[in-house]
Parts: sequence; structure tokens; C-alpha cells
Amino acid sequence: MTLLELKNVCFSYHSKDAETVAVDNVSFSVDEGEFVGIIGPSGCGKTTILNLLAGIYAPASGTIILNGKSASESTSKIGLMPQRDQLFPWRTIESNVLLGPELLGRKNKANKKRASLLLRKYGLSDFAKKYPSELSGGMRQRSALIRTLVMDPDILLLDEPFSALDFQTRIVVCDDVHRIIKQEKKTAVIVSHDINECVSLCDKIVILSRRPAHVLETIEIDLNKSASPLQRRECRDFPGYFKRIWKLLEDKNERCTTKIPEKT
Ligand code: ADP
Ligand code: MG
Repeated sequence: MTLLELKNVCFSYHSKDAETVAVDNVSFSVDEGEFVGIIGPSGCGKTTILNLLAGIYAPASGTIILNGKSASESTSKIGLMPQRDQLFPWRTIESNVLLGPELLGRKNKANKKRASLLLRKYGLSDFAKKYPSELSGGMRQRSALIRTLVMDPDILLLDEPFSALDFQTRIVVCDDVHRIIKQEKKTAVIVSHDINECVSLCDKIVILSRRPAHVLETIEIDLNKSASPLQRRECRDFPGYFKRIWKLLEDKNERCTTKIPEKT
């Protein structure tokens, strides 16, 4: 079943004397339970698309349909996990995780229980009373994910969730986040500029052009669905997907890539 659908979505930023067209006629859909990746060059409009999906911005034209209704009318809940973990350093993990319900004035027994259940389930109950600075980067990311999950969203939007982590931690946390999202039976849209990461995680990838973002191609990733992202990197067809996406981005975006000057 289709949970989310974008149809010919356009969006521009306006300042006093300039218009920046960021999204140009973007269409794609996300099925329930699907993990969809958005990949594209830096500055092409990926975060803008997530903000449109989250309802932070409204499209200039085109429509976003969520669960059969227009995004502004839908009662489906969207959880946005920003690029950095954005945990407040002065709050304990437990109180960071409960920030959403608190801001909405809905902090109650039920969501306190849900928070402590999630913290326990994903190995963080011993850290509930600790502060973010006392946790590893991976644990902080897991806490940020739990903070989003406490709100029980129907769809999770993740904006380059691993970009602040070193390479090894990134691979482990990627497995972690994938496992948690699958276990909680959530639908996810993840923005990345790391092709391998996206192929290892996603069922489908939307490949964007340079700004203004339009869809170059949408590729179904047919790798072992029950395997973890790390295991999927070992699949025979994995390198083929990398090459295909790399080539597409290189061919279409060639003219905008910064050439490193040759040494003289
Ligand atoms: P990405 O996430 O793909 O790196 P963004 O969606 O953040 O790209 O930005 C797309 C384009 O829109 C960029 O050129 C950026 O400079 C511009 N942009 C982003 N946010 C704003 C804003 N608030 N005002 C004006 N321009 C913006
Ligand atoms: Mg971005």
C-alpha cells in the first residue's frame, strides 16, 4: 500500500532580491514498510524535500499525499530525525527522549513507559540518567532515533543520520538503525550522499540531479531483504548498484563537479 506520494512537487526559497529554485517537479512514492533512499549531490535539495514531507514547508506547486489525504489534512504522524543528533547536552538521555511529548504537552504515563521500554529494548536503560556527553556517538544516534520513535510516527524521515560518525561506527550504527526501524515496523525515508550506505539500507533509491533537484531515476534495490545492511554489502549484485548510481550521478552532474586543480 502506498503511504506517501509526491506528485510534481516544486519549491523555491525567496529572499528580498533572489529566488532559489530548490525542487523541480519531483515525483516518487513510498510504500508502507518500505525503506526509501534519496541520494544526490550536496546542495541539490535533499533536506528541502524532507522538510516538505515533514510539512515544515508547503510545495509551491504539486501535491504530497499522505495515507490517501493531502499532507495538510492527514492525521498520519511524521518523525523527522535531523542531520546531527541534536540532543540537548543539559538534559539526561531519558529527558531528551521525552522532549517530543513534553513540547506537545502530552508527557504522560503511557509515553514515559514507551520511552523506558524503547530504551531498555535497545540497550540504553543503563544510560537513561546520563548526559549525551557521557555516551558514544553511536549511542547518541540511537537515543535520537528513540526520541523520534517515542512519538510513534507512521513514517520516519532521516536526514544524513550517520554523517557525524566515523566510518566504522557509521557501519555499525547503520545496522542498528535499520534493525530498530524494521523491528518497530516503520516506514522510512533516508537522505544520504553515500551511495554504498544507501544501497545497503534501502529497498528503493530516488536519485536526484544537482539543484534544482529533479528525479534522474528511481532504482529498485533487489538485494536480500532479510539481511542486515552490512551483510547486503557482501551480496553479489551490490557493486553493480553502486556503479550504476555512480555513473548516473557522474554523467548527469559532470558539469557541476569541482575539478581539483592539477599540481604544476
Ligand atoms: P541538500 O540537503 O541536498 O544539501 P538543501 O535542501 O539543504 O540541500 O538546499 C538546497 C538549496 O537550497 C541549496 O542551494 C541551499 O543553499 C538552498 N537553501 C537551503 N535552505 C535555504 C534557505 N532557508 N533560504 C535560501 N536558500 C536555501
Ligand atoms: Mg542536507
